[in-house]
Amino acid sequence: MPSDSNRNMIEEVDLLVCGAGAGGMTAALIAALEGLSVIVAEKTAQVGGTTSTSGGTTWVPGTHLSKLAGVPDRIEDARAFLEATVANRGGAHLREAFLESGPVAIEELDRRTDVKFAAAAAHPDYLDGPGAAYGGRALGPVAFDGRLLGREDFDRVRPPRREFMGLGGMMVGRNELGALLSPFASFSNLRTTLEIVGRYALDRLSYKRGTRLLMGNALVARLLYSLRKAKVPILFEAGVRELIVENGRVTGAVLDGPGGVRRIKARKGVVLATGGVCWNRAIREKLFPPGTRDYALGPQNNTGDGANVATAIGARLDDGGDSPALWMPCSSYRRADGSMAVWPHIILDRAKPGLFAVDARGRRFVNEANSYHDFAMGQIAHGAIPAHLVCDAAFMKRYGLGMILPGASNLKAMLKAGYVVTGRTLSELAAKIGCDPLALSETVNAYNRSAASGVDEAFGRGSTVVNRFNGDAEAGGANPCLGPVGAGPYYAMAVRPSDLASSAGLAGDEYGRVLNETGTFIPGLYACGNDLASIFRGTYPGPGTTIGPAMVFGWRIAKHAAGKLNSSAQAA
Ligand SMILES: Cc1cc2nc3c(=O)[nH]c(=O)nc-3n(C[C@H](O)[C@H](O)[C@H](O)COP(=O)(O)OP(=O)(O)OC[C@H]3O[C@@H](n4cnc5c(N)ncnc54)[C@H](O)[C@@H]3O)c2cc1C
Repeated sequence: MPSDSNRNMIEEVDLLVCGAGAGGMTAALIAALEGLSVIVAEKTAQVGGTTSTSGGTTWVPGTHLSKLAGVPDRIEDARAFLEATVANRGGAHLREAFLESGPVAIEELDRRTDVKFAAAAAHPDYLDGPGAAYGGRALGPVAFDGRLLGREDFDRVRPPRREFMGLGGMMVGRNELGALLSPFASFSNLRTTLEIVGRYALDRLSYKRGTRLLMGNALVARLLYSLRKAKVPILFEAGVRELIVENGRVTGAVLDGPGGVRRIKARKGVVLATGGVCWNRAIREKLFPPGTRDYALGPQNNTGDGANVATAIGARLDDGGDSPALWMPCSSYRRADGSMAVWPHIILDRAKPGLFAVDARGRRFVNEANSYHDFAMGQIAHGAIPAHLVCDAAFMKRYGLGMILPGASNLKAMLKAGYVVTGRTLSELAAKIGCDPLALSETVNAYNRSAASGVDEAFGRGSTVVNRFNGDAEAGGANPCLGPVGAGPYYAMAVRPSDLASSAGLAGDEYGRVLNETGTFIPGLYACGNDLASIFRGTYPGPGTTIGPAMVFGWRIAKHAAGKLNSSAQAA
């Protein structure tokens, strides 16, 4: 590894990868396995970026893992699905490259590295359509024991979002949540709880947080572990500041950080994987709709540097198709220490029976049970920013709302923080959120009529597979996403669209090469992850549709740089 004392030396490698998230780390790992010399330059002191704070779900159709899980998926089905859902928005050749390489990339990672996934038997695509999958397509990172990294590297893994950890540092899987919330409901719940909490208590004797890593954190830890095994040097606190161009070819980059400036030459190319537009104020002002510019879920250090350095040498920034970003509706409040607690409403509440969302007038405007992206797209289209999620006391007790857990008996702190507001009657609630009480009461009446019939004629709540999957079939209603709004007190929580990922990004070709304004590739310059415009053109077809392409294009870039990707898009 280049040592700090050599900082002013010009170093030379085959591939310089800027950014250590899912995209960059995959590119670096595969390039190293192909025998290229690689350096990863990471702006912060930790690897992982947004990836480490994510669900880690990775959408890759047609993998061998789908067969292993007993839910074999087929590329031709995924192709039909994408043709129906992303349709004629452009970029079909990029999606084709993704489909062709996806299963090969996952198989190679599985066989040659510690980056391990398992296909979920039930994790439906977010849209209905021909070829939509119920299971097999969304891959989940296999849990990882962070102790394997050693203490120093364990601390190099960016932790999950604070709101997503229990007891100040314990990760909990989606399928474990039920047991932890009701430990005494069954023997198996109690055993699960004791195992998880017991392990965490042990961890805390020696580590800053729990070492049982799940979801995006497991993925990042697995990538780091594999990079270490492949002996890939990682330069921390070394952000790309500028690209070096010689005779029209990118031949390296200037890195900058607290330790000073260093220039690195890259014979085969530079990969930009700095996490996308995220907090880039200028791009947000230009491309993002009003009401969304101040809220992003990525780390503050993701400031769109990849886009900046590439456009500075003539690269084209694609606007991302239907939307410049992919969104989650988020609620938030300021903690006593001044920091913001932000909660993305992913799956736990919006689709459950008895909840609805209203605009500033007190009217519904969207199918609340749709995917987080489509809910937020509805907010943007309707100008409902913020919107309010509304429920009654029985709903709050059974399902919770945002950061408020099911069964929470004391909401005083959350009410005081303004995270949630309450009214004994609907009129009182309407006054608190500033909407017309008559409109709110009409909304509830119409909603209750839909709950009785099981059909939401206005917005189709409960009409799609993913709606029903996230609803509650055990609630006993005619529709798992619809239930009557009953007696007060009532609650309302403000939500705003916040980007979980960029859709706008650098225009690229099927090898991940960055294109200039005339559509020609810039030799020596690649981009992947959120730095590359989304191949789904501002739609969000299924769970994991940002990390899937990030990793598959990372893989393709490495193969291309190594001269191993032939024109039929498969590895040679
Ligand atoms: C709560 C949440 C849940 C999510 N769940 C999922 C999910 O389950 N599935 C899914 O597909 N997507 C999910 N996403 C989105 C997903 O996490 C991101 O789209 C994806 O991880 C981005 O990967 P990346 O490699 O492009 O960037 P990142 O993971 O953000 O990595 C970028 C890295 O580049 C570094 N960097 C920044 N600037 C520079 C620079 N100048 N030089 C060098 N390095 C730099 C950053 O520090 C960072 O380490 C979720 C997002 C959120 C917020």
